Amino acid sequence: MTTHRSWVEIDLSAYERNLKNIKGLLPENLEIISVVKADAYGHGLPQIVERSIQSGIKNFAVANLQEAHEIRNIGYGWPVLLLGALLPGEELEIPNSDFIPTISSIEELDRLNQASLSKNCISNFHLKIDTGMGRLGIWYQEAAELIDQIHRFKNVKITGVYSHFSDVKGSSEFTQLQRTRLQSSIKSLDQESGVILHVDNSATVNKLESFSNFKAIRIGLLQYGIKPHSEFILNKASIAPTFSFHTQVGLVKSLPKGTSVSYGRAYTLGKDSILAVLTAGYGDGIPLGYGEKGTVLIKGQHCPIIGRITMDQTIVDVTEVPGIQSGDKATLIGESNGAIISMEDFCDIAQTIPWAVLCSITKRVKRVYINPRI
Ligand SMILES: *Cc1c(COP(=O)(O)O)cnc(C)c1O
Repeated sequence: MTTHRSWVEIDLSAYERNLKNIKGLLPENLEIISVVKADAYGHGLPQIVERSIQSGIKNFAVANLQEAHEIRNIGYGWPVLLLGALLPGEELEIPNSDFIPTISSIEELDRLNQASLSKNCISNFHLKIDTGMGRLGIWYQEAAELIDQIHRFKNVKITGVYSHFSDVKGSSEFTQLQRTRLQSSIKSLDQESGVILHVDNSATVNKLESFSNFKAIRIGLLQYGIKPHSEFILNKASIAPTFSFHTQVGLVKSLPKGTSVSYGRAYTLGKDSILAVLTAGYGDGIPLGYGEKGTVLIKGQHCPIIGRITMDQTIVDVTEVPGIQSGDKATLIGESNGAIISMEDFCDIAQTIPWAVLCSITKRVKRVYINPRI
């Protein structure tokens, strides 16, 4: 492990506990759709999906067909919801695949129907309704009309209807309005026909309203142990981070007062200082903006980043930390000798959001799995 210049540690037991605890919050008839897009939020799709399957997860959602095939490479039998738009030509991959496309328009439905007709089969789909996100989905006021047309397409079957909240805090009046819009737009659907409704996600897991109607919940961020926002509270369950981010001290050196540090010469040493040059930079996914006020933990102490973060290296002031040497572990997100930089702290300082941090950790950052099942 020590030969990696930067790595993330992913605790698969913590992941499994999170799933269990989230499940414990939900009524029995509510299925989890585990959202594993973007390489399972940077955690590694194959490892996360395998552990999810072992933990009893039956449904997955991804952004696109390429990610769906990554799940298929692990095994058959788990339906995969495709959250993205169905691009022209992609409908040809749906028949007999157990991939479930998201349909937002008659045009998409027509293409899916034709592709399925030519394979002489029936393809399932989920209808997406835009209740106020302004992104994918048919606008809720036009949904009833589309629903009335579905029976004309003989080679497709609606098996789900969903919508997406635009307010991540999930507590606003607008979220309530979105729920009402969804309910009103699906009145003409036969609710006993086995159509699965899902609108909730991580941010609303503690604010579920109508258990009888909403039969699934899409969970992304929370299963990885990260709160969607700072006011988020789970009463009955605890979740823990599955993820920590580390690098190493490459070089320790002294520089005299008045020396400028890093590109742009924006930082000048106010005193004689000892610096540590770390072996990770924005090329590993450290946000540039984290450099201004950020620290890293070495031997449990916060060491301020100085000068601009560069592609492969980051410079920190270790003048106040005795005994640092090349090869010491430096923690960007996570725990070090009792001190912690949480994802939340990290995002506050870098002015970003956890979803973006996780997706920005690059390929060269080694994923190290802790507690794999043997
Ligand atoms: C990514 C995504 C989710 C998961 O959201 P989290 O906040 O990470 O739980 C749910 N639904 C849709 C449509 C998504 O794109």
